[in-house]
This record gives sequence, structure tokens and C-alpha cells, in this order.
Amino acid sequence: MEHKQKAVSELNEVIKNCKRCRLYLTRTNVLCGEGNLYTRLMLIAQAPGDSEDREGRMFIGPSGKVLNELLNETGVSRDEIYMTNLIKCRLPKYRRPKQDEIETCRRFLEKEIALIEPEVIVPLGYYASRYVLNRYNISIPEAKAEFSGLYGRIFWGQNQKIFPLPHPASLLYNKSFKPGTVEKYGKLKVFSQECKWFPVCPMKRFADKGELGRDWIELYCKGDWERCVRYQMQERGEYHPDWMLPDGTLEET
Ligand code: SF4
Repeated sequence: MEHKQKAVSELNEVIKNCKRCRLYLTRTNVLCGEGNLYTRLMLIAQAPGDSEDREGRMFIGPSGKVLNELLNETGVSRDEIYMTNLIKCRLPKYRRPKQDEIETCRRFLEKEIALIEPEVIVPLGYYASRYVLNRYNISIPEAKAEFSGLYGRIFWGQNQKIFPLPHPASLLYNKSFKPGTVEKYGKLKVFSQECKWFPVCPMKRFADKGELGRDWIELYCKGDWERCVRYQMQERGEYHPDWMLPDGTLEET
């Protein structure tokens, strides 16, 4: 068996037998991550729901149906991504995760991230996003109410890209969120590939020579290239000087 596959299988065996916190008492199945081990995109949800707990599969309940619709809209297939949870066992009555449960279970998520090495980590919803952003030292608002402003923005911390998104379940409670949520999920298609102009772009040349900060490349060329002003001008066939940065500012040095 190939090395990564073997390492993930071994990790999953450990997860399946875990009894480190109280949640093992109320679970039917432990939920291990599933999907493409060689993906660019790793989705991290909060914890299994009832259907997932019963069947032992990721995103098969009502939230999974919404996730499928959102992925279909953006043109990303489930086969392209890897999906896992912050907490691997169901939370009784859909209660919030407790801090000690997150502290205990996070070791598995950490191992999954280290093994999968995703280009972009995509935490879904408040608890997963708060954990991941804190983990990579990205400052977040204190108030939960202000947190939704982080969804749909790309962050770069400790050599890792993070793209928090609303949890698909939010659409089960409020359909009016749908247009904004569809738009945010649409970026997953962009993140599933690099900018087509990158190999011939002066940004690459400057980055290779060490004359340009890596964050420009990660956040635009290998991140949200659709937002890059150079990309947009290139597509329209408009002139732009070599020293134009992806945000459209001119950097003559
Ligand atoms: S600077 Fe813009 S056009 Fe150039 S590679 Fe990066 S994203 Fe593409």
C-alpha cells in the first residue's frame, strides 16, 4: 500500500478505537475523514450528525445534501476533496462542543492535516473555523456575531492557506443565506487550481528571484487568482506593466 494511504489507514484504526473523551459513550460510529488523499482542498466540519453517526460516513444527512448542491453549483466533485471533522464523534442532541473535547480530539485532525498536506484548509462553520484560524495564529473577532465576516475570505498563516466557509447546515435554517453562500462556495473551484497565467507571469519570475513576498503568490496566483487585477486585465487583453502587483497597485522597486 502506498505510504500516505497506509499512514491514513493506520490513523483511522486509532481513531476508530478512541475512548479518550466522554463522547465515545454516546456514539454509534466514530467518523474518520474520507475522500481524496491527494487533494488541494480539505473541508473540516464540526462533528458528525445523526445520519453520519448511524452510517459512519461523512456528510450523508440533510447537511450533506446541501453540501452536494453547493459543490455541484461550483463544479467541484466530492471525489476531488477530502472531508473530515474537528470532533470525530457525534455531539448528543447537537449540543456545542466543549473545550476539553476539542482539546482531546484535535490530535487526530492535526495528524490528518500533516498527512494530507492540503493546499487550502476549508473549515466549515464557527467551531471548526475558530479552531483552525487560532491554530495558525490568525486573529479573529472576540464576538461570535462578528465571525461571519470571516467567511469567504482567504487567510495565510504559518505557510498555510485557510478559507473559512459557512457550514452547509446554515441553509437548513435560513434559506435567505443561499445566494451569498453559493457565491462563497464558488471560490472552491478557483482554489482547486492555480492561475493559468502563473507559469508565464512576471510575478512568478520575481518570486523565483526572491524579489516578491511569497504571500502575494499564495494569496493570488495559487489562491484567489480570479480576484487578481493582472489576471483580469490579461483576460481582457489589456496592457499592464510588469511591476503591477496582483491587487493592481504599482510597485516599481
Ligand atoms: S499575478 Fe495574477 S495573472 Fe499573474 S499568475 Fe498571479 S494570479 Fe495569475
